[in-house]
Amino acid sequence: MQREENGYIVISCDFCGTDWDEVIPMIEGHHGSIICLSCLQTALDAAAPAEEEFDCAMCLQNKPVGTKHWQHSNPTSSEGLNENAHICWDDIRQAAKAFHKDKDIDFKWDPAKYPPIKS
Ligand SMILES: [Zn+2]
Ligand SMILES: [Zn+2]
Repeated sequence: MQREENGYIVISCDFCGTDWDEVIPMIEGHHGSIICLSCLQTALDAAAPAEEEFDCAMCLQNKPVGTKHWQHSNPTSSEGLNENAHICWDDIRQAAKAFHKDKDIDFKWDPAKYPPIKS
């Protein structure tokens, strides 16, 4: 998310609460929520069916119980943290695609290993 501090815009990862240092790769969702590369990499492998319904921080959709999703298990408490940030599988894949496409970011993924969920 973005916040203003002393007249400056500070960008931070909603999921782990880390402020952007202009180095860590981060990607913004459609509605201002932000995920960093390290969270995304964890999410790809740790995503699991949700035990409760949730609102996805990236697409803002309300997702039912059982939707594959990810939430940081031990985020840093900071001003930039969204303690309720969940990301749905579709958005995890989209973010992975975006990181992959960016030549300045050292991240490649194999979409076949992380297939979309058929509905
Ligand atoms: Zn993060
Ligand atoms: Zn979503």
